[in-house]
Amino acid sequence: MKTMAEEVVIVGGGGAGTYAALRLKELGYDPLVVCKGLIGKSGCSIFAGNLVLSGHMLGTTDAQSEATMEYFTKWWNNFLIDQDYLVKGGSWIEETFYPELDEAGLYFRRDDQGDIVASVGSVRNIAANQQGQSGMLLMDRRRKQFAEKNIRSLEETSVTALLTGSGGEVIGVVALHYPTGERYAITAKAVVLATGHSDRLSTRSTGTREQSADGIALAARAYAEMCNLEIQWWHASDFAYPKTWDRMHVYPNPLVGSTESARMYNADGELFFEQKTDAPVGLAPYATQFKRVGEQVAKGKARLDGGYTTSYAHIPPEVVKEYNYHAKAFEKVGLDVGSDHVESAVSWHCRQGGVHCDPHTMETSVAGLYVAGGIGGHSNGGIGVVSFDGNIVAETIAAKDVSAWAQPELPADQAEAEDGRLAGLLRPVPEGGVTPMRIKNKLRQLMWDKMGFEKTEPGMSEALEVVRSLRQQAEAGMGLKNTTPNFNYGWVDAIDAFNMIDVCELTILSALNRKESRGPFYRTDYPYTDNENWHARNILIPTPDGGVEFRVEPYATPYLEPEFERRDYFDVPW
Ligand SMILES: Cc1cc2nc3c(=O)[nH]c(=O)nc-3n(C[C@H](O)[C@H](O)[C@H](O)COP(=O)(O)OP(=O)(O)OC[C@H]3O[C@@H](n4cnc5c(N)ncnc54)[C@H](O)[C@@H]3O)c2cc1C
Repeated sequence: MKTMAEEVVIVGGGGAGTYAALRLKELGYDPLVVCKGLIGKSGCSIFAGNLVLSGHMLGTTDAQSEATMEYFTKWWNNFLIDQDYLVKGGSWIEETFYPELDEAGLYFRRDDQGDIVASVGSVRNIAANQQGQSGMLLMDRRRKQFAEKNIRSLEETSVTALLTGSGGEVIGVVALHYPTGERYAITAKAVVLATGHSDRLSTRSTGTREQSADGIALAARAYAEMCNLEIQWWHASDFAYPKTWDRMHVYPNPLVGSTESARMYNADGELFFEQKTDAPVGLAPYATQFKRVGEQVAKGKARLDGGYTTSYAHIPPEVVKEYNYHAKAFEKVGLDVGSDHVESAVSWHCRQGGVHCDPHTMETSVAGLYVAGGIGGHSNGGIGVVSFDGNIVAETIAAKDVSAWAQPELPADQAEAEDGRLAGLLRPVPEGGVTPMRIKNKLRQLMWDKMGFEKTEPGMSEALEVVRSLRQQAEAGMGLKNTTPNFNYGWVDAIDAFNMIDVCELTILSALNRKESRGPFYRTDYPYTDNENWHARNILIPTPDGGVEFRVEPYATPYLEPEFERRDYFDVPW
């Protein structure tokens, strides 16, 4: 096992992790980024298609600026957000994020006069270079900035455990470089988890293979509090076939270069959702769209895995092709974007909940442990917002003058125990045993079946039992077909499988504790949105005996109040 001693370790090379590293470098630090995939080419930042404008950028009016605030609070986060954080984030995105990207050479789509093209509507967004492609190009810039600024990284290296000190504080990580099988024990004065959302916990998912909820599992094992883990977002107009991850998404958002938005039709060909009319302030109207699909499912006019369609056929095809990268998905499957409807289905998308943190500092409930981005339970993410988190966490660490602190001593017993656990997972499949992929697939199918649109207490309790039996199965009989230590993705799957088991269990427990329905979270036994009791953080506290406790904390409403106390779930537009 190699050992290293670092000031700051950042885990994750997406929008949040890369920005945290760039900002720390500016502040005089020399962080190490450990990334399961490649920096700027893994996780979900590469998928960000819309670049939402904030403040008064590019001629955004007062009314539009207010609508943007309303959109992020109500439609994007279903009021589960610290509103002061949003206001600060909006200003930072306007004043720092976009100007820096412009200067770094990211090309925002312009018209023949050289003006940046924005969508038309209450909440405006731009694209680089086409809508649907922005994240890829933005993250390419970040990768180049890493090289320019000499930011150190360990790529294709998965963090598998956190190291803790005698008071429970986080003092480092253990990581596996899977191309070589080499293990690292790294001490650090501050550890930032920026491992993103955890979309890949369900059969249909918009996530990449790294998104197995590792960060949440690592933090929970260090007893960090979790917040709103049950609030899982969905895409509701992905291509039904092939079972999609992303870029096979029919964007429901206001389209750049057009006043129109996509339309959704049920099995009888009846129009049932169009952002432009049904969610005019919902720039990414995913929760509302999902609810509307749910209504069609109840009427027998759609299924969650197909049987309804989405289309751009009412929009001039040259406009869609010019500004929208998603038109290519139609071409790839032999459809004409100007006339065809594509069969659609829902997929797990970003998770609103995650590790509980103070969004003004990014500190978690565990000393030494910070988060940034989609992993946090403070917001639903977005490429600008997660970059803001990277900025906050860097400034918090610098303000604490972490570099002046003594280097923690390596807890050799913990490092050896983790090394032994990892070595133990590199074993052949025992007689009658299972591979990690089998466990992962069963888990994902379970979450699709029982943690889908309609959730019930008996269904969730049954899911909990199955997760626990899968844990026993994995512990007793999970092994690999190939036990070479180099480039062994089966080994990575085995590590992931235990993270997924932990996080599926915590997610179900958290869902059982929220006794209402809100946004994408629907319980048939509590079919109403209850702002009186549940406009609140649902905080899960892992306890050392393997159990959990809960605390419920109301949100302050300095700017926007939910407009009712309790209302039937399907009567709430957001
Ligand atoms: C399909 C899709 C479309 C989206 N569209 C938009 C949009 O149009 N506009 C918008 O603003 N936002 C959009 N978002 C949301 C936005 O992309 C995310 O909120 C944001 O990019 C998350 O950034 P992140 O850095 O937190 O996580 P990610 O970008 O997911 O980065 C996570 C990083 O952590 C690494 N990692 C994971 N586990 C480990 C481990 N164990 N050890 C080491 N490294 C690890 C991964 O390799 C990756 O580098 C979209 C998201 C998705 C999924």
